[in-house]
Amino acid sequence: MKTQFPIIDFHTHPYIDESTNICVHKEYCNMDVSSTVETFKKLGIEKICGSVTFNGGALKPENCTWDSVRKMNDTALKLKEIYGDFYHPGFHIHPAYVKESILEVERMHKLGVNLVGELVPYMHGWADYSSKEFYEILDAVEHYDMVLNIHTIYDGSVDKLVKDRKNLTIVAAHPSEYEGFMEHLNRMKISENYYLDLSGTGIFRMGLLRHGIDEFGADRFIFGSDYPICNPACYVGGVAYNTTLTDEEKEKILYLNAKRLLRL
Ligand SMILES: [Zn+2]
Repeated sequence: MKTQFPIIDFHTHPYIDESTNICVHKEYCNMDVSSTVETFKKLGIEKICGSVTFNGGALKPENCTWDSVRKMNDTALKLKEIYGDFYHPGFHIHPAYVKESILEVERMHKLGVNLVGELVPYMHGWADYSSKEFYEILDAVEHYDMVLNIHTIYDGSVDKLVKDRKNLTIVAAHPSEYEGFMEHLNRMKISENYYLDLSGTGIFRMGLLRHGIDEFGADRFIFGSDYPICNPACYVGGVAYNTTLTDEEKEKILYLNAKRLLRL
């Protein structure tokens, strides 16, 4: 199915080779840099966004150094060179490396990159979204008016982050199951700059998206798949074939919201 407008996938983790591809079934999918484009374009997805979240080889969270972070970010920039308009890169920061992270924010700003994340702390050996060190880096992120995309952690630290940083545009990932989704909606009440991307678990629950839109409007929800862990076709279907949504709501979620937030 093709929509009347181009779809933007806000949440992906592109890869440059097999060693940076985090799909656990990759040997069955004929995946490489050019087949990625085909996979998305067949679904009407014209642009993908997000971070490279694996640096190749055997990155263990406890061994994640600044060099590993920088390598993932450089791979994202290399993919941008290959993909051009098809890819809007996201980059990593790391609270164990405050000075380096701030310099990285500045470097990315100069290159026109305005998306931080998706950050995936459990993969990179850190855990707290509300630490003093993380906030210090966020000062730079906020200064350059970047968008922060975070993997949702259910330990209260996202609540604290959202309360403390109401001027920062935060897009949390994964609607999750009922309890988790209600936590997302509560945070939407706390900050007008809190959004939810629809990747990962949750969108297959009947009525979930309608529930969120009825309470907070379609502007707060953004299409994302979490490719190559998840199959983007399921997520396009979950919005484009969702009989509880109007065409106007679908266009906002699949296209306009990401376009507006990332100034595309
Ligand atoms: Zn992800």
